Amino acid sequence: MHRRHLLRFAASAPFASALGGTVLARHGAMASTARRSRARPGDGAWPSEAEWNGLRRQVGDAFMPVHSPLDLCREAPTSAQCLAIWKAFKNPYAIGDNVALTQTLGWVDAWTSQPSRYAVAARRAGDVAAAVNFAREQNLRLVVKGGGHSYQGTSNAPDSLLVWTRRMNEIALHDAFVPAGCAGQVAPARAVSVGAGAIWAQVYDAVTTQAGGYVQGGGCMTVGVAGLVQSGGFGSFSKAFGLAAGSLLEAEVVTADGAVRIANACTHPDLFWGLKGGGGGSLGIVTRLTLRVHPLPATFGAVNMTIRARSPAAYRRLIGLVIDFYRTSLFNPHWGEQIRFGPNDALNIAMVFQGLERSQAQVVWQPFLDAIDASADFSIDFAPLKIVTTAARTFWSPTLFKRMLGFVALDDRPGAPAGNAFWTGDQGQAGQVLHGYGSTWLPAALLGDDRRDALCDALFAASRHWRLSLHVNKGLAGAPPEAIAAARDTATNPAVLEAFALAITAAEEQPAYPGVAGHEPDAALARRHAEATGRVTAELRRVVPAAGSYVSESDFFERDWQHAFWGSNYERLLAVKDRYDPDGLFVVHHGVGSERWSDDGFTRLG
Ligand SMILES: Cc1cc2nc3c(=O)[nH]c(=O)nc-3n(C[C@H](O)[C@H](O)[C@H](O)COP(=O)(O)OP(=O)(O)OC[C@H]3O[C@@H](n4cnc5c(N)ncnc54)[C@H](O)[C@@H]3O)c2cc1C
Repeated sequence: MHRRHLLRFAASAPFASALGGTVLARHGAMASTARRSRARPGDGAWPSEAEWNGLRRQVGDAFMPVHSPLDLCREAPTSAQCLAIWKAFKNPYAIGDNVALTQTLGWVDAWTSQPSRYAVAARRAGDVAAAVNFAREQNLRLVVKGGGHSYQGTSNAPDSLLVWTRRMNEIALHDAFVPAGCAGQVAPARAVSVGAGAIWAQVYDAVTTQAGGYVQGGGCMTVGVAGLVQSGGFGSFSKAFGLAAGSLLEAEVVTADGAVRIANACTHPDLFWGLKGGGGGSLGIVTRLTLRVHPLPATFGAVNMTIRARSPAAYRRLIGLVIDFYRTSLFNPHWGEQIRFGPNDALNIAMVFQGLERSQAQVVWQPFLDAIDASADFSIDFAPLKIVTTAARTFWSPTLFKRMLGFVALDDRPGAPAGNAFWTGDQGQAGQVLHGYGSTWLPAALLGDDRRDALCDALFAASRHWRLSLHVNKGLAGAPPEAIAAARDTATNPAVLEAFALAITAAEEQPAYPGVAGHEPDAALARRHAEATGRVTAELRRVVPAAGSYVSESDFFERDWQHAFWGSNYERLLAVKDRYDPDGLFVVHHGVGSERWSDDGFTRLG
């Protein structure tokens, strides 16, 4: 059976756990075999009630059995409660607050979001250590969930014990933070310490809105801090401030032996390096992160417009124009976010800037706008607010003005905290089911005179198959030297240092779930979309052979993922893994060392 189909079968089979579980003796002669396959409910190795109660006694009411609200939908798909669940899938906070759910509900032919058996909704590092010790001693599949935004499904697994960090969201600012053990070696810095379960909206509120500082986090406000930093992590202004991981000063982390460790440049520096971009859920469970706080620019702004070409040939010329314009005028730390292409011959600009006033941004864009106006082949959709600015301090604040313009929305549940805000542009991804995805770092050398035509041809060819977007903030070529140096000292693929952009293609459908009548994922459409997004990536990789890809925004089926996600850093990262987690307690799909495990993370291979 084709691997994709096999995975899909396994993920959707209602009795997958019973079918897949190996019956193992818990003690004695089979002990070594038991370590090859993790325990499943119903086999002899699964902990007894008394043993689960032992964990319950250690962590108190943090311990909980997990039940998915979708169980109800499977039984009564047209009930009022089920319809309410379906509505809640468009509220990222409602999903995030549910122990059983993840922001992406699945990926057709890849994975389906499934709840763990039990969770520890940790409030402190001690709860996490208790869960880690229990999982190790009982030979359980262990998963970690923070913001729950993994596209790869790495924060859920059936028949597992979940460590859920959502409640660990305390935030504290420091005027002069020195990492533990680094006195005299690392200069004191303004910093913020954040519980691992915090999401970026909470951090931006504390650091920018309340305290007038800048912290490098993610674009999406509901992404988890720990997941993003361990990915490397990009925000809209990363071309100026670098990777989120580049600003990490210290992490508190529970390793597979249950020890609560401090990792920074002076203590466990190898673990510290691996946590910076080595991928979430592979090295340990982070419980707290301390990030550098940078000076806040005065102004943030945005440029939004859609330009249409009258024919495919005109569209190819338009691609040439915008890439030339990017190279000469936008390829610098001021500019971030996206230039989008697609089969409908429309070019969408959705960019942001920092450190420029509106009038300065207008001057930058005028030559491009003049060139568009001068050609009968192009037209710009009416947009009264093409270029806007705001005081940087209010950028992440859900002001009435931003809500009225539809840029920001609030958690609409009764009694929800007032700060529960999200960009409406990210709402389409709440509860989504992915059909296809791919990302490719595009080296800045492609902007050179000898390569630019080939790049534009590839972008045009790719756009014939499906939508794609250049995220110029997710490639660090053109960033300040200190941002590049900090990124170089992370596990992230060094390809990011040379790339002017990350090209992303994605296709998805709105919330759906296998087994819920009337809400089944559209598998036939998904496969057509997967084919189309695959062609987009193939066109780009014609001009970027052996390309790098961003671990957290990538194809579930990426071949040679070790090289694509970490490049020349992979061997070093694997050595860190072997030092801190030699038995592979932490396994996620295409995470470091996962090649030693079956796709479901239950069986050690070889
Ligand atoms: C709508 C949306 C927008 C996004 N926007 C951006 C963006 O602007 N920039 C960007 O760089 N990425 C972006 N991403 C990708 C995102 O950063 C990653 O998926 C990130 O890993 C999510 O972290 P999380 O905590 O929300 O997710 P989770 O699914 O909870 O975790 C992701 C991974 O990290 C692990 N993990 C989580 N917490 C911990 C912990 N405390 N210790 C150890 N491991 C942990 C999990 O096990 C899992 O493997 C976006 C994703 C979505 C869905």
